[in-house]
Amino acid sequence: MRTSKMTYHSTLRFAEQKDLQDPLRHFRDEFLFPQHEGEPCIYFCGNSLGLQPKGARGALEEELEQWQTEGVEGWFRGKRPWLPYHEYLAEPLAGVVGALPEEVIVMNTLTVNLHLLMVSFYRPTRERFKIIMEAGAFPSDQYAVESQVRFHGFDPATAIVEVQPRPGEELLRTEDILETVEKHGAETALILFGGINYYTGQFYDLEAIAKAGHSVGAVVGVDLAHAAGNVPLRLHDWGVDFAVWCSYKYMNAGPGGPGGAFIHERHHHNPDLPRLAGWWGYKESDRFQMTKGFVPEAGAAGWQISTAQIFNFAIHRISLQHFAEAGMPALREKSIALTGYLEFLINQLNEEGHQFNILTPPDPEARGCQLSFLTDENGRALFDYLSDNGVICDWREPNVIRIAPAPLYNTFEEVHRFAELLRGV
Ligand SMILES: *Cc1c(COP(=O)(O)O)cnc(C)c1O
Repeated sequence: MRTSKMTYHSTLRFAEQKDLQDPLRHFRDEFLFPQHEGEPCIYFCGNSLGLQPKGARGALEEELEQWQTEGVEGWFRGKRPWLPYHEYLAEPLAGVVGALPEEVIVMNTLTVNLHLLMVSFYRPTRERFKIIMEAGAFPSDQYAVESQVRFHGFDPATAIVEVQPRPGEELLRTEDILETVEKHGAETALILFGGINYYTGQFYDLEAIAKAGHSVGAVVGVDLAHAAGNVPLRLHDWGVDFAVWCSYKYMNAGPGGPGGAFIHERHHHNPDLPRLAGWWGYKESDRFQMTKGFVPEAGAAGWQISTAQIFNFAIHRISLQHFAEAGMPALREKSIALTGYLEFLINQLNEEGHQFNILTPPDPEARGCQLSFLTDENGRALFDYLSDNGVICDWREPNVIRIAPAPLYNTFEEVHRFAELLRGV
């Protein structure tokens, strides 16, 4: 979403006014905040673990109750039978990632899903075996890709092509990504990019990457761990082949919350696509016939393997309600303003002689909530100072502090208070 240049002021009054005018401000009351000296912490860590929705406890209690009163019949009976539980999540989740409901499925956890979908979508041949990815991808993704390449008998040194920033730069240029795709195109089986890089906060041009990948005949997958629930996505329209994400970062589904996956509609009826099967992906109407020979459920649901984790799903169901109510366009609008305000205040401090070096792109279209600060040798001390003053954010080795104001529950006043703390450094 394009926004005109916003006007900000560094006064507390301005921040308070912005909060009063914020149409999403009531969502803050739906979350529980860790406390510091009797006050809510400034929680800027939704990029790592989103806050607990107040409804989570009730959602869990409902399922405990269902278990208590129905026992095994809970799969089929009661207020919200467990068997089709993934269907309660598909609609709101499809809204978050820009997909058709039958293109998304909640299952397992992120890295597991990445492996499962690479089984289907990384099909290397002697001629086409390379994977193009961003340099500095999240380690779990690197390990997954490396082990998949070895699993197929290839050498990661030649099979994995990492797009690097130019010397002296920290961010990737879209033109360099596209050029790499062009250069290795004929040998590339898969392009696997993060939506938003966890370290720099850079939001890649996924539409352009998908288009370039397809034009050279490669499959295109994306890891949306830091993008889902953070920035508007249009997976279906962009035509990416598959995507994976987690629910515990911006989507607030709690530690170890369930992963999600997207498989584009165009792959739903392809019998040649291999997959690792289990009974939970079997055609739902006949699942309990217990017959021989795997017949997948239609759509992304056919990639399920194992019994649904109902307690985790229950919290996810509640957390998704907030996204459905707020809507990604409104969340994004506030997010651009909130992160833009943080950037504005930091730039002011820098004009006053401070040196806070923001690594994340200044273009709102090329980032989400998060700003990453590249620190000097005092970085760790700065992080500890923030912690001691009730700020929860995170430190990433070797020298980055990540600050992520989340539009569902953070305020302009918090951003202002945070900047005042930095002023006192
Ligand atoms: C957070 C994150 C993960 C974590 O994976 P899990 O399997 O949920 O532990 C993986 N990849 C990326 C890009 C992440 O940001």
